[in-house]
Amino acid sequence: MARTARAARGMRMTILQQKLGTTGGDPAELDAVIVGAGFAGLYMLHRLRGLGLSARVFEAGTDVGGTWYWNRYPGARCDIESMEYQYGFEDDLPREWKWTERYATQPEILRYISHVAEKFDLRRDIQFETRVTSAVFNEATDRWAVETDRGDRLSARFCIMATGCLSAARVPDFKGLDSFKGDWYHTGAWPHEGVDFTGKRVGIIGTGSSAIQSIPLIAEQAAHLTVFQRTPNFSLPAKNAALDPEYERSLQANYTEFRQRARQSVAGIMRGRPNDRSALEASEEELQREFESRWNDGGFGFGAAFRDISLNKAANDLAAEFVRSKIRGTVKDPAVAELLCPKDYPFGTKRVCVDTNYFETFNRDNVTLVDVKSAPIEEITPNGLRTANGQWEFDAIVFATGFDAMTGALLNIDIRGRADQMLKGKWSAGPRTYLGLQSAGFPNMFTITGPGSPSVLSNMIVSIEQHVDWITDCVTYLRDHGMATIEATVPAEDAWVDHVNAVASMTLYPQANSWYLGANVPGKPRVFMPYIGGVGNYANKCQQIAANGYEGFKLGAGVAAGKS
Ligand SMILES: Cc1cc2nc3c(=O)[nH]c(=O)nc-3n(C[C@H](O)[C@H](O)[C@H](O)COP(=O)(O)OP(=O)(O)OC[C@H]3O[C@@H](n4cnc5c(N)ncnc54)[C@H](O)[C@@H]3O)c2cc1C
Repeated sequence: MARTARAARGMRMTILQQKLGTTGGDPAELDAVIVGAGFAGLYMLHRLRGLGLSARVFEAGTDVGGTWYWNRYPGARCDIESMEYQYGFEDDLPREWKWTERYATQPEILRYISHVAEKFDLRRDIQFETRVTSAVFNEATDRWAVETDRGDRLSARFCIMATGCLSAARVPDFKGLDSFKGDWYHTGAWPHEGVDFTGKRVGIIGTGSSAIQSIPLIAEQAAHLTVFQRTPNFSLPAKNAALDPEYERSLQANYTEFRQRARQSVAGIMRGRPNDRSALEASEEELQREFESRWNDGGFGFGAAFRDISLNKAANDLAAEFVRSKIRGTVKDPAVAELLCPKDYPFGTKRVCVDTNYFETFNRDNVTLVDVKSAPIEEITPNGLRTANGQWEFDAIVFATGFDAMTGALLNIDIRGRADQMLKGKWSAGPRTYLGLQSAGFPNMFTITGPGSPSVLSNMIVSIEQHVDWITDCVTYLRDHGMATIEATVPAEDAWVDHVNAVASMTLYPQANSWYLGANVPGKPRVFMPYIGGVGNYANKCQQIAANGYEGFKLGAGVAAGKS
């Protein structure tokens, strides 16, 4: 990619340039800046290097890994199976890495990501412990001016946000938190040295995915664990086990082909048998047989037991009631079991959890469940916390309160596009994107798994690879056609936003107060953010748009060519 505005570069020499002096040419003038060094940022860097572009990654953490760098809480592991939750962009990687369990633990996934970074020598183009604070598009140069919290300033043709859908950890604004004399932790920013809860009175706030993974393990260690639950969650048994060597070998034999099929599937996941039958057509016996068999298989396959579970409330009720019957059959105290049964929203419309011994843990003498829906937490006190109903004393509090999902990390950056328009302002009523890849008015900025793409409703590595490949093809196309900029048009974006909403409204998803809708963040606009039309359909649409000369995007020859 030809570099532009070289004359201006002398003015922007900063200390960063000494740090960056490895990519060749003037380091302050890059072809691309990538923000984030998780699965997305690493693969993006690898692909851009393959095009011969100069690219630099900025990462707030001290090393690669993203989600798997930050979320080190006890029990953290993937809930999409290891053999599927890995890169598939080349056949060698799945062959040379050995997963040990059906669902890999966080340390194992982090080791894997580190292995990939080493294999492709990625760290040399990553600046760690550096948070990007602003990205401003300069219409006079068609370049992005990027700044960091370390005082770095550089300019790049492309700005690629690999900031993660679940990377802005959120501690609710509880009164009195500063006064707490014990230790407190957020699952999404867990200390690297681990936490020893032995002999401690621990309170955990939240019962989403991270809580459901960590509660059984914290309960084994702590003197007493008190779980504060606002909304009970549907959780399916993981049935974790050592990885089946035969299954592993069968996938390794031709992983590329396996991944191609995943890319054409509904959710980027191959395990789990789709079923064309409606739950409403099945006899009581068939229903129980199908649900029971999938429950025993473990994992997300249960959600595909019948084709209409996420579409039809009556069908959904059957699945929901089955899960509730399992909770009631597991938890010995009927009052606790009832509290743990989700009743206010359809099955699957909040992120379904996958657990090992979650419900069983409530049979332990050292675990107490507290309902904070009926009696909310009023304040954190110096010794614990107080709800409308009582006081608790703790040595440690764990916030398993989730993330400002999908938009949080992006909007923490001061992003300004054409005419100095702030992305935060543009998205004040909810994110607006074309394909989840670009937002109109922000040329040459891409969001990997951005809102409006399947992202969190899919195996995210499949979605990440699809986006990175699409962006790489797009950049290649611009180069081959002598174009400098690409930008979503407003009509294409409007039509896509309408389509994303229309598809969501055909499902039961909008019926839950989920983080998919931003409902966990006070004041966040209620908009269904991920695209639910299916990974394969979505990928084909992206492909078609590219094949049609990037339909819905405006391509520009750039300022050097007298503007387009
Ligand atoms: C506990 C947990 C379990 C999960 N399990 C699964 C699973 O089983 N299957 C699945 O498909 N998905 C799962 N996910 C989703 C997971 O986030 C994705 O699968 C994937 O890891 C996302 O990769 P990413 O590179 O897009 O983002 P991330 O891994 O989130 O990486 C983004 C990086 O960007 C950095 N960053 C953000 N803003 C800035 C900034 N301004 N400046 C510098 N750096 C910045 C962050 O520090 C972070 O390291 C899980 C998520 C969590 C939290």
